[in-house]
Amino acid sequence: ALAGEQDARPVQVRITNLNKTFQRNKESVHVLHDISLEVEEGELLVLLGPSGCGKTTLLRCLVGLEKPGEGRIELGERTVVDAERRVFVQPNRRDVAMVFQNYALWPHMKVAANVAYPLKARRMKDEIKRGRVQEVLDVVQCGHLADRYPPELSGGQQQRISLARALAPRPALLLLDEPLSNLDALLRIDLRAQLRLLHREIGFTGVYVTHDQEEALALGTRVAVMKEGRFEQIGKPGEVYHRPATEYVADFLGARNRMALEVAADGTATINGVPVPGFVRPGFTGSYALRMRDGDLTVRPAGATTVDDRRHWVAGARLLEVLPAGDHAEHVVVMGDSTLFVDVPAALGELEPDQDVEIGLDPDHVLCYDVDGRLVDD
Ligand code: ATP
Repeated sequence: ALAGEQDARPVQVRITNLNKTFQRNKESVHVLHDISLEVEEGELLVLLGPSGCGKTTLLRCLVGLEKPGEGRIELGERTVVDAERRVFVQPNRRDVAMVFQNYALWPHMKVAANVAYPLKARRMKDEIKRGRVQEVLDVVQCGHLADRYPPELSGGQQQRISLARALAPRPALLLLDEPLSNLDALLRIDLRAQLRLLHREIGFTGVYVTHDQEEALALGTRVAVMKEGRFEQIGKPGEVYHRPATEYVADFLGARNRMALEVAADGTATINGVPVPGFVRPGFTGSYALRMRDGDLTVRPAGATTVDDRRHWVAGARLLEVLPAGDHAEHVVVMGDSTLFVDVPAALGELEPDQDVEIGLDPDHVLCYDVDGRLVDD
């Protein structure tokens, strides 16, 4: 672990009723809508959402590169933004560090000098600075690269260096804006694991922005799913994955298959217009949307029977395409208004395109949403 003097401590972050509007071509674009959020001390909170939902703008408000029109931001005991009272602490006085997608290292400065840079303004003895630089470089496993120049290094190494630079002054808060998205797939997974380990070891408070659901679930102590400048759901990775609160979250976290459920007053159910006698949902009436992940659906030839089976089978579908994907094959199935993607283990793959098929729903892995897109408990 890191040791030293003049340390910042990881702090709690409190964001209250934050609003941010941009002016664009004489129109105002409301990008953050009354955002409130608490990030606990030592927590790594992931902001997850599609491009344009306001993730980066929220980070920029935290670091001080944007001035929100309304709201408050507190870092521990310090109020760094209070729009009403016209409080706005400049970025260099916030004790917040940021890591960017494009590394942003100075090419003409050696690695050690890059990492030492944010310590410049601090009144610290040179040898302590040098020690600190070596320490953070070791933490990101780049101690041996201190005398190299950034352009001589791989993307993964450069990103580790920029992480070291951000950590060197021991910021109260570390912000990471899609830090892994410029790296190739294998390296991304490798660095993701290292980052997780690092967070566990040194316990910084962090806010991490990504549009990659896997990354969010792997890294976040909590995940905040954003849509159009608002939070749709904030929860532990397991919560948002297993119980997406809205259809939007379900779709974003991989439950992309959608079927329409209608329950008549007598309790009988149809799915995409096909009666499914066994599908009983006590207390339900009217229209719902069902959401399922690819691996939670199955498919069988029309008219087939499966022994010892608790699935609900919905007839009337057609297999459009079978796409081999290594250990499984993705089956693209059309059923009424729905196009469904069904992962079938490769060993079972024996269906042919254009065949009539039935879709199997696993009752334990069907998410059900009301007409407003809210999760319904059953
Ligand atoms: P991405 O992953 O693509 O960066 P994001 O979720 O981080 O997306 P933001 O970069 O925060 O989204 O942008 C949110 C919205 O605010 C977008 O519609 C964007 O066009 C708009 N926006 C951001 N910065 C400005 C600006 N300086 N002036 C005008 N509009 C802006």
